[in-house]
Amino acid sequence: MKKRIMKITVSVIKADVGGIGGHTKPSDALIQAIRDTVKNSADLLIDYYIGYCGDDTHIVMSHTHGMNNEKIHKMAWDAFMAGTKVAKEEGLYGAGQDLLKDSFSGNVKGMGPGVAEMEFEERPNEAFTVFAADKTEPGAFNYPIYRMFVDSLSNTGLIVNRNLADGVIMNIMDVEEGKVAALELWKDKPTIEAALMYPGRYVVDTVTTKDGEPILAASTDRLHNIAGTYVGKDDPICVIRTQKLFPATEEVGSVFNNPHYVAGNTRGSHNMPLMPVKLNSAATINFCIPIVESLVFSMHNGKFTGPFDGFSTPDWDYIREIATKKAIAIRSQGFIHPATLVPSELEYAEGYKARMSVLEEKMKPIESNNSSGEKKENYEDPD
Ligand SMILES: [Mg+2]
Repeated sequence: MKKRIMKITVSVIKADVGGIGGHTKPSDALIQAIRDTVKNSADLLIDYYIGYCGDDTHIVMSHTHGMNNEKIHKMAWDAFMAGTKVAKEEGLYGAGQDLLKDSFSGNVKGMGPGVAEMEFEERPNEAFTVFAADKTEPGAFNYPIYRMFVDSLSNTGLIVNRNLADGVIMNIMDVEEGKVAALELWKDKPTIEAALMYPGRYVVDTVTTKDGEPILAASTDRLHNIAGTYVGKDDPICVIRTQKLFPATEEVGSVFNNPHYVAGNTRGSHNMPLMPVKLNSAATINFCIPIVESLVFSMHNGKFTGPFDGFSTPDWDYIREIATKKAIAIRSQGFIHPATLVPSELEYAEGYKARMSVLEEKMKPIESNNSSGEKKENYEDPD
C-alpha cells in the first residue's frame, strides 16, 4: 500500500505586544510568557519555534488542523495576551499594542496579529524560509517578491527551473478595499508590475504554482484599517517554500541583497532601506531602520530542524553596510519628501493632521488682478 502523504499546515503568527524602553525588542519575561502558553497547548502542535524581529514576536508552528483553525489561532491570541500581561507589569512600551480587540472571536486575522499560513503535502525534504520584518509595512515585500518570481536578472531559476519558467499565480490584495486579484504570470506581468509599484496599497497575499501548489503566504493586514487610526506599522511576515519545484533557498534569500526603500521606521512616517539582520535582532535606535530576518527551516513529518539564520554569513555584513549608508543618506534630507511619507499616509498620524489643520486655517485666498481674464482653451497634454 502506498504510504499516505501527510498534509501539514505551517502557521506563522506574530504580534508586537511591547518593547523595552520604546519600540526596540520584547523582554525575556515577555517571550517566556508566550513560550509557556504555547508549551501548555503543545499537544495541538507537531512543532513550534518562537523568536522575535525588533519588537515583534513570531510563533512558527506546524500542525495538522488546517488553515484558520480556531484552536491554533486562539492559542496564539492567548500567548500574546500572556505576553501583554507581562509587558504591562514591566511597564514596557506599547504593551499589547497589536491586540486590537478585547476578546478572541474565532480567528486572529483582523484582530491585530499578522498571520501567514499554508497547508500542503509535505515533501520528503520539505524546506521553507520565514521572512520576518519590523518597522515597515506589508508592501515592503513587493520588491523582493517581484525579484523572486518575475525578474530573471535576479533569479536565474525563472529561466532554468521548468516550473518557475511556466509562471506562477500571484494573489495581490488591495489592503484599502480588502479585495484580492488573482494574477497570472506571464500573461499579467504589466498588471502585476502596476500593482506592486504601490506597496502602500497593493501587497502580495499568496503565490501558488499554476496547479495550485502553495509557494508563498504573507500577512497582509493593515492595522490602521482595523483600529481606524495609527497604531504602529503593520510589520509583515511571510513563509516561502523553497527548492525543487520552487525557488532555491538562495534565490529567495538573495533578493534581499539590495536594501530598497520601504515605508516605516520612526513614527511610521519615513522611507528607509530594508536592512537584512540576524535572528532575534533588536530594532536599532538609529532612527529604527526597517529590518528583516530570515529563518531557514527543514521539516520532516512536521518536525522542524532549524532555523538556520539566513542573514548571518559574512556577506550580509556588507549588505548591512549598504543599508546603513542608504539610511543615513535619505535621513540627511530630514522631513522633506520623499524622506517622509506622502500626506495620505502621514494622515494616519494625529499630530500631522493637527499641524495641517493649523496650516489650513492660516491659508487665505490669493488676491489676483487677472481673475476675470479668459481661460486658455487650447491646452494640449504635452505627453
Ligand atoms: Mg514592530
